[in-house]
Amino acid sequence: MKRTKIVDIFDPALIGSEVCVKGWVRTRRGNKHVQFVALNDGSTIKNIQIVFDMAKFDDEQLKPITTGAAICVTGRLVESMGKGQSAEIQADKLEIYGTADPEVYPLQKKGHTLEFLREKAHLRMRTNTFGAVFRVRSVLAYAIHKFFNERGFFYLHTPLITESDCEGAGAMFQVTTLPLKEIPKDENGEVDYTGDFFGKQTALTVSGQLEGELGATALGGIYTFGPTFRAENSNTPRHLAEFWMIEPEVAFNDITDNMDLAEDFIKYCIRYALDNARDDIQFLNDMYDKDLIERLENVISQEFVRLPYTEGVKILEQSGKKFEFPVYWGADLQSEHERYLVEEHFKRPVILTDYPKEIKAFYMKQNEDGKTVRAMDVLFPKIGEIIGGSEREENYDKLLQRIEELNIPMKDMWWYLDTRRFGTVPHSGFGLGFERLILFVTGMTNIRDVIPFPRTPNNAEF
Ligand code: ATP
Ligand code: MN
Repeated sequence: MKRTKIVDIFDPALIGSEVCVKGWVRTRRGNKHVQFVALNDGSTIKNIQIVFDMAKFDDEQLKPITTGAAICVTGRLVESMGKGQSAEIQADKLEIYGTADPEVYPLQKKGHTLEFLREKAHLRMRTNTFGAVFRVRSVLAYAIHKFFNERGFFYLHTPLITESDCEGAGAMFQVTTLPLKEIPKDENGEVDYTGDFFGKQTALTVSGQLEGELGATALGGIYTFGPTFRAENSNTPRHLAEFWMIEPEVAFNDITDNMDLAEDFIKYCIRYALDNARDDIQFLNDMYDKDLIERLENVISQEFVRLPYTEGVKILEQSGKKFEFPVYWGADLQSEHERYLVEEHFKRPVILTDYPKEIKAFYMKQNEDGKTVRAMDVLFPKIGEIIGGSEREENYDKLLQRIEELNIPMKDMWWYLDTRRFGTVPHSGFGLGFERLILFVTGMTNIRDVIPFPRTPNNAEF
């Protein structure tokens, strides 16, 4: 008989019919007359209750039905008397696919901490919490493609292996086929890459932006959505070594268009998740964060504050608040400062613009004041920076001057400079950290809990 997914089983039209469900046992309880099994197949947060009339089954048959076991049940779907569920299945036939020995199955007991489950990342998707989180993640990924597709953007695939360091930050993972035991050296004692696969030093990308700009100045509007890698050793609840980034880049957009796009985009994604992953978000709201849904609704319904960095610093200086890191004009804002502006001062998301050029990347458009650049960071409650973007410097001479001031090796940048040499246009873009968006939408507080297999310092197992 054909299997019905549990997400589809609560359809009132199915009441009275014969159904077949397959899944993993969450719990079994009951007495010698009747046994109840809660079954989940991952298609929804909801379990279906299976009722075993023990006049039809014997104890030995049901013995392997312990938490985590995989079974197939055929029976009649009936309206349920039990509270909290609309339907249940009266079992006729039982097939056991795989047992899960209660003595050793790690998820035998309920109520494990998120820390414990992080150590069991290979199984944690079978819990209610992680099932919900990863369904939300999938729904959000779809929302992102839908948003850009509806607006005529093209999905551009930028390379993961690259020769250039986008920000000049240097926190990259090197990619090489050179033998690490005997690294070839030239006469100056430098690594000799001639025998390497690419014949050059290469690394995993930190951003697809520079290639994205090539796409935008050809196709008009593009977005990337792929993994990025940063070898920064920042062991924080908001940083991963491998994370997913969404980077739209749009020809002819100025910074105001860019802010409008960022605000529309992020609101669209949150709305889509509320509408299409409601049960999961409700579950996370009830279990972890009673203000979650209210916070999401709040962010969608309010206009984001748009504020120059200089004004933001003034507010922070006048706040009278003791911060761990000092604030002054020119300082790179820390998460505590960003969250003060968003959570305490304005009580809604803030887009901070026009940062000092010293703390931002070389490609950002320089303002007339000679001190600031047309950067925009979107700051969110609980998260801090969720988006970083800018209008790009489209003037060849100004861009080159900045590259030279910062000593960025020119030989690596010639192809990027060609966008400014041939048919240069004003253009803008930004990067959204996918996991930071998922943190916000799920109410989870550690970024390791919103990516199936987190890569962090000393952690790359499964
Ligand atoms: P932060 O200051 O928070 O370290 P950043 O300024 O280095 O971030 P950008 O280079 O502007 O980040 O990257 C764009 C977006 O990617 C950020 O706004 C953030 O949402 C996300 N992001 C950056 N670094 C990480 C990371 N290590 N792990 C997860 N997401 C990240
Ligand atoms: Mn940033």
